[in-house]
Amino acid sequence: MRIENLVKRYGAYVALHEIGFELKSGEVVAIIGPSGSGKSTLLRCVNQLEQPDGGCITVAGQRFEGGKEHSRAALDTLRRTVGMVFQSFNLFPHMTILRNVSIAQERVAGRSRKDAEDRAMHLLARVGLADKAGQYPARCSGGQQQRIAIARALALDPQIMLFDEPTSALDPELGLEVLAVMRELAESGMTMIVVTHEMRFAENVSDRVVVMADGRVIEEGPSRELMRDP
Ligand code: ADP
Ligand code: ADP
Repeated sequence: MRIENLVKRYGAYVALHEIGFELKSGEVVAIIGPSGSGKSTLLRCVNQLEQPDGGCITVAGQRFEGGKEHSRAALDTLRRTVGMVFQSFNLFPHMTILRNVSIAQERVAGRSRKDAEDRAMHLLARVGLADKAGQYPARCSGGQQQRIAIARALALDPQIMLFDEPTSALDPELGLEVLAVMRELAESGMTMIVVTHEMRFAENVSDRVVVMADGRVIEEGPSRELMRDP
């Protein structure tokens, strides 16, 4: 994935000033920076939850130019290719955990109910929650709900996963459960962009750190160098 000269404005306020960076396959990039620096806006532009005003994002073999309309088909491909996990888990409260993870596979990927549920069980096992499949989200801790949200995003076989402060709403020990799942995912070769305040994750798990301030990338480099030598 490549981001070139990305610009996003909210009215007169410029939230992203010509951001550029490249994400190689299998790479894990941590984005850090103070609150309000544009980290979340950048992720939301990558999967077109926000429409950028300028610049270009090349992902899933397609170019998404800022300020242009994109076809339904292009957006559908993008949403399948790029999975996203938010700070709040946004699970469907009226569906079992199994259904939460399986439903999009039927609706978006056209899988049969059985195939979707088999794959959901497989993913729930990978995040350590196979025994919760028949329960409802309200019975799960925040850390469990976030792991379910990760399984749900993985169910569509994304090539890239975006995480927007996935542990910020969690108590520290529940955050660690989520970070452990993310570490395994990184080690399995998933390409990831992680907006986080977890400096140990940035240092120990990510390959590269991008530091943002005031809508700009102010520093960027290999995690160990950048984090050791602030
Ligand atoms: P971060 O994720 O680094 O905390 P954000 O990307 O959420 O930063 O926000 C960057 C800036 O853009 C902030 O000043 C924020 O107030 C502003 N902003 C974000 N979303 C909107 C919006 N929908 N409308 C207006 N301003 C926004
Ligand atoms: P594959 O067929 O590529 O081996 P699987 O079907 O076994 O993949 O797993 C599906 C996805 O789950 C893969 O993208 C893999 O990266 C991811 N994954 C691996 N480990 C974990 C984990 N601990 N938690 C969540 N997802 C994981």
